[in-house]
Parts: sequence; structure tokens; C-alpha cells
Amino acid sequence: MNLTSGFEFIYDAVLTLAYPQVCVICGRSVERRRLGVACEACWSETRIFTDEDRICLKCGAPDQERCGRCEELAFTAARAAGMYKGALRESVLLLKRQPYVPQHVESLLTEVATREPLSRSTRVIPVPLHPKRLRTRGFNQASIIGQAVSKALTLPLDEVSLVRVSTTEKYRAGMDTKGRRDTVAGAFRVAYPRLIAGEDILLVDDVFTTGATVSACAKVLFDAGAKSVFVLTIGRA
Ligand SMILES: [Zn+2]
Ligand SMILES: [Zn+2]
Repeated sequence: MNLTSGFEFIYDAVLTLAYPQVCVICGRSVERRRLGVACEACWSETRIFTDEDRICLKCGAPDQERCGRCEELAFTAARAAGMYKGALRESVLLLKRQPYVPQHVESLLTEVATREPLSRSTRVIPVPLHPKRLRTRGFNQASIIGQAVSKALTLPLDEVSLVRVSTTEKYRAGMDTKGRRDTVAGAFRVAYPRLIAGEDILLVDDVFTTGATVSACAKVLFDAGAKSVFVLTIGRA
């Protein structure tokens, strides 16, 4: 154990004693603060993608090399830390309430981002919220993830180039993929194309569902001259 991790361990232990955290899934206590909202046992039951997983090379869908459903999505490749279930789902839900990415989630994201092809990224851009929505929510959870990732990877964080021009982001229940695509098409705009041209963008969001939102972002980023658009999310629905 080196000095830093030793310190981290003690710091963690002290904080755990001072502020015991109950696992939101099973109710047992969370052993280490870095785990966030779930205990070790619940984390180990959450599916995390590793190098050995067979995933769609483009959209990252599990258990298939070509899912056959992502051809029309505009991004270069999308990857998630794991399935949007268990501890990953709870971590995302927590992030909607407080602007905080637990150390463990940050490590999982960094691991994904340092694997090919996302490792080529040169610039981190969070999926933006509409300014009106940002005012009512207080913060953009994609920005919080983007901050953590850009710091860990020492890549520039760009929160100005990509803007949301329409407030549409809630989907009606039962809306299909095409419906979602139509809703978000035209929702984004690039304000500073000169910052995007020639860059390999790491587009960050909390959950990948149909890919419609990140695809709409990728489209305008490519129009502005981006070389590639990689998508990184915590969970894959
Ligand atoms: Zn638990
Ligand atoms: Zn796919």
C-alpha cells in the first residue's frame, strides 16, 4: 500500500465511521466511501463491462459484435461502464439529486475511456441542458461526470462549444426510437466550430438508452468538423 492509498484508506475509514452510509439497494452498510451509494456485495452483482465482454463495436450493446440496430446513429462509438442496473443505476439516480461522482464510478469511467477507441479522445464535452432547465435543476449531471472524467484523463473540458437550443428532453412514455430521434433532432447547435474542428470528442452523458440524444449531438459536432465523436456513459439501458 503506498502513502496515497494508505491515506485514502484511513480517510475513508474515518469518514465511514463518522458518516455511516446505508446501501440504497440492500440496506447493509457501505464499507468504503469511494463506493458511493452501494455496498461491495451490491457492486459485485452489478454488471460491469470488461475487455472480455463481447459488445457491439459501434454502440456498445452487450453480447453481440454487431447489434444491427445502430447503423443510423451518428457517433463513432459508444461505451458504458456497465448495464444501467443495480449499483450503476443507483449511482446515476444519486447524481440527479446531488452533484457528486463517487471515486469508484470515476475509476470505472476512466477505465472505459482509456480503452480503444475512446482512448483517442482529445476533448471532453458533456451533453448540455437547456439554460432554462439548468436554472430549475441547479446543475447538469452530464457536466458533473464530464468534470470528473476530464480531470482524471487530463483532457480539456469544453462546456461552451455544444449548446442545447430546444428544451425537449423528456420523452413521452412508449415513444419508439424514431419518435425519440425526431424529438431531439435539431435540439443542439455548435457555438464555436473552431474549437471542434479536427478534434476527437468524448461526449459524456449519464445513461445510454436509444442513443438518439448523443446521436443528435454527434451530428452537429461532425458538421462542425469533428474527426470522431466517442460517447461515454455510466450505464447502458
Ligand atoms: Zn448492498
Ligand atoms: Zn450497435
